[in-house]
Amino acid sequence: MGKGKIIIVSAPSGTGKSTIIKQLMEKEELQLRFSVSATNRSPREGETDGLSYHFLSTEEFKKRIADDAFVEYEEVYPGRFYGTLKSEVSRVLQQGNNLILDIDVKGGINVKKQYPEALSLFILPPSIETLRQRLLARATDDIETINQRVAKADFELTFADKYDVRVVNDDLPKAIDETYNIVKEFIDKR
Ligand code: 5GP
Repeated sequence: MGKGKIIIVSAPSGTGKSTIIKQLMEKEELQLRFSVSATNRSPREGETDGLSYHFLSTEEFKKRIADDAFVEYEEVYPGRFYGTLKSEVSRVLQQGNNLILDIDVKGGINVKKQYPEALSLFILPPSIETLRQRLLARATDDIETINQRVAKADFELTFADKYDVRVVNDDLPKAIDETYNIVKEFIDKR
C-alpha cells in the first residue's frame, strides 16, 4: 500500500480555511483524511469530539505531552493548547491516505521541518479589515476574542512567505478551485 502525503494548511482564523478544507475533503480522488488535533478548549456549537478535535481537559493534554504523544503542540492562545497527535499521522499515512492538517503557523513550520516532503499551504485574507468583518459576521466569538484573533492574524501573516504556496481568499469558489489544483498536482506527483 502506498504511503500517503502530508498537506499542511495554515491561515489566520476567519480566512475561510475550514470551509476550504471541508470542500477539499469531499473530493474523493484526493483521498484526504483530517488530522484530528487535541485541544483543551471547549467545543463550539456544531463541533463533535473525535471529529473536529479530541477535546481534552488541561490535565489530560499535559499527560499527553509527558507521554510524548505529540508531533507538535502549541499554546495558540493564552492557556489554550492545540497539538497534532503522532497516532493521527501514522494511522492515516499507513492506510495510504493523504493527511491534511489545519494548524497554526508555528505548528505548520514545525511539521514542515519534521516532514520536508510535505506541502505547506498558507491561506491569506484580502486584508486585515476584511478579516475583522468576517469574524464579526461569524459571531461565534465575543468581541475580546475577536480582537485577540485579529491581533494574532497580523502576526501570523508575517509567516506566509515561509510556506510553499499561498492562496488569497478574495472569492471563496476561486480560492477553493486554486487550492484544489495545487493539492491535486502535489498528490499526483510521484
Ligand atoms: P480554533 O480554536 O479556531 O479551532 O483553532 C485555533 C487555531 O489553532 C487555528 O489556527 C488552528 O489551525 C490551530 N490548531 C488546530 N489544531 C492545531 C494543532 O494540532 N497544532 C497547532 N499548532 N495548531 C493547531
